[in-house]
Amino acid sequence: MTQIERAARGEVTEEIRKVAEDEGLDAVVVRDRVAEGQIVIPANPNRESMVTGIGKGLRTKVNASIGTSTDIVDPDMEVEKARVAERSGADTLMDLSVGGDIASIRRAVMDAINLPIGTVPLYEAFALSIERYGSAVDMPEELLWEVTEKQCEEGVGFMAIHCGINRRTVEMLRRQHYRYGGLVSKGGSYMVAWMEHNNRENPLYEHFDRVVEILKKHDVVLSLGNGFRAGAIHDSTDRVQIQELLINCELAETGREMGCQTMVEGPGHIPINEIEANIIMEKRMSGESPFYMLGPITTDVAPGYDHITAAIGAALSSAYGADFICYVTPSEHLGLPYPGDVREGVMAARIAAHIGDMIKHGSMERDREMSKARRDMNWSRQFDLAIDPERAREIKMKRGNGNEHTCTMCGKFCANDILSGMFVENMKGSDKA
Ligand code: SF4
Repeated sequence: MTQIERAARGEVTEEIRKVAEDEGLDAVVVRDRVAEGQIVIPANPNRESMVTGIGKGLRTKVNASIGTSTDIVDPDMEVEKARVAERSGADTLMDLSVGGDIASIRRAVMDAINLPIGTVPLYEAFALSIERYGSAVDMPEELLWEVTEKQCEEGVGFMAIHCGINRRTVEMLRRQHYRYGGLVSKGGSYMVAWMEHNNRENPLYEHFDRVVEILKKHDVVLSLGNGFRAGAIHDSTDRVQIQELLINCELAETGREMGCQTMVEGPGHIPINEIEANIIMEKRMSGESPFYMLGPITTDVAPGYDHITAAIGAALSSAYGADFICYVTPSEHLGLPYPGDVREGVMAARIAAHIGDMIKHGSMERDREMSKARRDMNWSRQFDLAIDPERAREIKMKRGNGNEHTCTMCGKFCANDILSGMFVENMKGSDKA
């Protein structure tokens, strides 16, 4: 039985208890939200992994995506990237490999780290189809089911599956007449190409019950993919994206009624004034299914800095209620990320998630503690409270330390030192009161 089915029967599972403990919540509250489909817990029994919850009332979680391309296939580097993501504090990891021996790369990654693993089974199915039949559009439908089942058996915790694409949404896209960025989802564009070539409905939509039955058997969380997400700011929140969101929200409800844990994926590229509306729509239309925001990237003009453009979008998303964000690295739109890019991406996304949680959950305590540590010039406490203590310590140490009490930013003009004999004592006094 799945977590949602067990919760619906009133059971507080070991995983629910662990999530409640980590988040400082009552286990019964977490259980009820799992039963309602508002919290998901990737808990495939075929692989032991870290237990983490995603959804209502929980800390915003961060996913790091890695994986080979067809141009760069370096399995050791992918394992290294996975380790870097885990060390940097990602909550989950998606292996999105499309080049080389995808199955063996995935297994190596799964062996190397303890995070829940996500995949897009469509990628492996299309890659195998190219290898066996010479093209992705010739993929036999059965191959897709086989790959999905095999990945579930290996212990994948959540899968992005593009069920919300159907012939009506494709027709809508055609009639819409504009899309500056076209389709940027690999899964989305390949699935549309397959449907057009074969003049067929998307099997993941047509046989949604089969998707659910396969994932449910292994308690894999179904992440309803955003195949029509905008790849350009100009295209955000357009008709086809909203149509797919509508379908995904409906499928999220159907999936959880069938006993499968589900969440919904969101944009993409989006200006900051449209983020809140997307979150309100997803939450309202899906019955508060967890919302997994990809990025979102908030301007198209900063290649090399898209970990920042996405972190701005992610912070707002989290504050408005998104539950899960996918990191973006500085190499987005430019090349396959290296381990250093992964670290930058995870840190930027974790900072964004924290900023959002400060508003979403009113959790300001850590910031208040940091303010006190700064005021008191307590450097070791500042490092302990930092999201990236390693970076903070390194900068402090490397920039010279003429006066250990202050730092080289202002040196003898240290404002904290100047005030220390005056207002600070009063403030400290009032602090103690
Ligand atoms: S030297 Fe300037 S930046 Fe450094 S602790 Fe003092 S006030 Fe802060």
